[in-house]
Amino acid sequence: MTVARVIVDVPSKETDRTFDYLIPERLNGWVEIGSRVAVPFGPRKLQGIVTGLAEDAEVAYTKLKPIEDLLDAIPPLSPELVELGQWMSRRWLCPLTVALQAMLPAALKGRSEKYVYPAAGAEWSVEETAQSGGLLLALKKGKPLKLTSLLLQYPEHGDLLKRWMRQGKLEERQRVEDQLSVKTVQTVFPEQPSTLLQAIESIPTRANKQREVLRYLAENNAPIAVLKLTEAAATTSFTIRALAERGLVEIRSVTEDRDPYAHRDFPASTPMKLTPKQAVALLPIQTAIEEQKCETFLLHGVTGSGKTEIYLQGIQRCLELGREAIVLVPEIALTPQMVERFKSRFGARVAVLHSRLSNGERYDEWRKIREGRAQVAVGARSAIFAPFASIGLIVIDEEHETSYKQEESPKYHARDVAIERARLHNAVVVLGSATPALETYEAAVYTGQGTGLKNMQYISLPERVANRPLPGVSIVDMREELKLGNRAMFSRPLAEAIRDRLVKKEQIVLLLNRRGYATFVMCRSCGYTAACPHCEISLTYHRGSQNLRCHYCGYSEAEPKTCPSCESPHIRFFGTGTQKVEESLAETFPGIRVIRMDVDTTSEKGSHEKWLTEFRERRADVLLGTQMVAKGLDFPYVTLVGVLAADAALRLPDFRAAERTFQLLTQVAGRAGRHELPGEVIIQTYDNEHESITSVQGHDYKGFVERALMLRKQLGYPPYGRLISVTFSHESVPMLLSTGGRFASEMRERAVALGIRKDFDRGGNAALEVLGPVSSPIARLKDRYRFQCMVKYRGDVDASLLTSQVLQEMGDAVKRGGVQVSVDVDPQMML
Ligand code: ADP
Ligand code: ZN
Ligand code: ZN
Repeated sequence: MTVARVIVDVPSKETDRTFDYLIPERLNGWVEIGSRVAVPFGPRKLQGIVTGLAEDAEVAYTKLKPIEDLLDAIPPLSPELVELGQWMSRRWLCPLTVALQAMLPAALKGRSEKYVYPAAGAEWSVEETAQSGGLLLALKKGKPLKLTSLLLQYPEHGDLLKRWMRQGKLEERQRVEDQLSVKTVQTVFPEQPSTLLQAIESIPTRANKQREVLRYLAENNAPIAVLKLTEAAATTSFTIRALAERGLVEIRSVTEDRDPYAHRDFPASTPMKLTPKQAVALLPIQTAIEEQKCETFLLHGVTGSGKTEIYLQGIQRCLELGREAIVLVPEIALTPQMVERFKSRFGARVAVLHSRLSNGERYDEWRKIREGRAQVAVGARSAIFAPFASIGLIVIDEEHETSYKQEESPKYHARDVAIERARLHNAVVVLGSATPALETYEAAVYTGQGTGLKNMQYISLPERVANRPLPGVSIVDMREELKLGNRAMFSRPLAEAIRDRLVKKEQIVLLLNRRGYATFVMCRSCGYTAACPHCEISLTYHRGSQNLRCHYCGYSEAEPKTCPSCESPHIRFFGTGTQKVEESLAETFPGIRVIRMDVDTTSEKGSHEKWLTEFRERRADVLLGTQMVAKGLDFPYVTLVGVLAADAALRLPDFRAAERTFQLLTQVAGRAGRHELPGEVIIQTYDNEHESITSVQGHDYKGFVERALMLRKQLGYPPYGRLISVTFSHESVPMLLSTGGRFASEMRERAVALGIRKDFDRGGNAALEVLGPVSSPIARLKDRYRFQCMVKYRGDVDASLLTSQVLQEMGDAVKRGGVQVSVDVDPQMML
């Protein structure tokens, strides 16, 4: 007999191991590694994933409980994905079940439901049966019925139900079910047209409607959904059923995909003739795909250098070889435009996965992949788990983007997962970017020792396709503008350039860099700023609702008319929001047509697409927005890009602030002059000497990065060292100081015991030091204070293992005190 090792979907320390279950006779041969099953767990029924099978004679079979149900005929996870999950759980210190759940579409995150059944051996008298008026009959049919729906259906028998449940004649049993199932549509399958036409004669004239429907079906000669038919033939489902009874049509349930792109036409595209530079870049990638070598390439190409065409041709080769491909795109760059390029080339073989799809749509796209109907998956971060069986190529576009790191558990980075998954498939990874992350660049050009990203190959595309020039960039010092008496939002050069484009009927992209620059409320008399009473976060002003809101916990309060601290009336909101820029544009340039894209205007489904289509059709002059407008857009008439508040994010307490600013500015600059018309970029800043900004002017990625790397090396930051941030939260600060302190000293002691030095700055190999505990950048969240320790290490040290061991040992004490611990391995955000 075979035993299944099952991991149940409860993310806790106690359940972070497998439990053994018997595979019942009827499921023999069906339960595999990666199968989703329902199992009894104490008094509960839980969903679980089979992570192993064992043929173990030693197991006391009689003590094991059997698996209760197999939830899918084809396992949703493969053994390879289960192995990947195990690797993730070690790599980012998360329970295995959390890693596995991240790979499943929401529709399959089963929940357990209770149903009412007659208990075994229960008997009812004739009177009782009569009294129940159909209720008992319904129950005895054995169809699962929920208590709540029974009460709705038989409101008069509530007492009866209660009595029988108390007497134990009825009992509730749990079943695990999917959140969502496939969509089915009642469909009419007609007989041959000749048969139908013949039949018309035999139908009595009083059933004229049936005759009409038959005529319609004979003419169209194709299966049609019942609902569509009732509409098209102006008939009722009654008439259609009558035809079914006559045997002229058959009505069957048909599975239908919820296709988010069903209403879109994608004109077919064929491979372009590559430029010589593109061809040189593609060659090693293609060779590696053909030879099934698991290699990683950094494709470093300026914006508009034709990287996407290289991806497309690499994928094509992959498909020709009968293998599959995954393309990751940052969430906000997953615009219809980007999707269109893949759908146009590969048509129905493309499945698209992103967070703006409904759960049903996402489930159906995922099924297309698992059932082998799609061979290319294009999507955001989690598409890296697309359930393919034989991957040949994984592309990560804009690989430097922060959205590839998930900020909640499992806190994985899609780049690392891609490299590991490619290893399991002998697949090729291509990381593409105009501004690679420092870690990736270092790994491709130098050693990659520090971050474990070893053996990466570097491919460079330093020029745009067709020798189109990169746009000229000028920097405007806003302090000078102020000195010259210009208090407006737009500097004179930018205002002039906008006017010029309006006359020429060309288009403008305006980026408002708002990271770390919320619209906060401050008193000009006393300096009071409105902050959330539960979190150490300034409140954000919302003009629409005229209130102040905390973006972390949702707290809100009315806009103050006077300062709560000194009662001065000079309290107002600071910082510039996109709404304010929009107003200012309208005032300064009467008649200007602006499309504003930010979280407020794009929350509705399909709004993204609508705005971009409008802009592409030149029904607006300006596309104004936050980070959203910086990525992946390609409009031929955009000849001016303006950046407001370029330096806004430079002062965030994050060692990557400079890198991020440089990347964002370079990306948005890349939106200008991508086609025949040349482009121009104007950057407004209060810090015109900062390297992040001046380097954009010279399109000097290399210069910027080499200097930034030197600085990182001195400080031992990635890519020369690695970080693990451990955050403790609790209502009491002394509690946090003692817990954090204990963690830090235990870690240090262990390092010493292992002979690992802590003086990080001097040469040498292995080093580990623990900084903190110190108050986190977000010092309080939802009434809990937050302190963090930063484990900084390099070389041959398994710091993750050390961290998890120390936390494990402290576990009980920490839990008793109510301290919450959260670990982030290789953190991307310093929160
Ligand atoms: P990137 O992804 O590097 O930003 P794209 O692939 O979007 O660059 O290419 C930029 C522009 O150049 C696009 O409009 C694209 O259609 C065009 N392009 C790319 N490769 C070629 C080629 N070989 N011949 C002609 N045009 C090309
Ligand atoms: Zn005040
Ligand atoms: Zn709050």
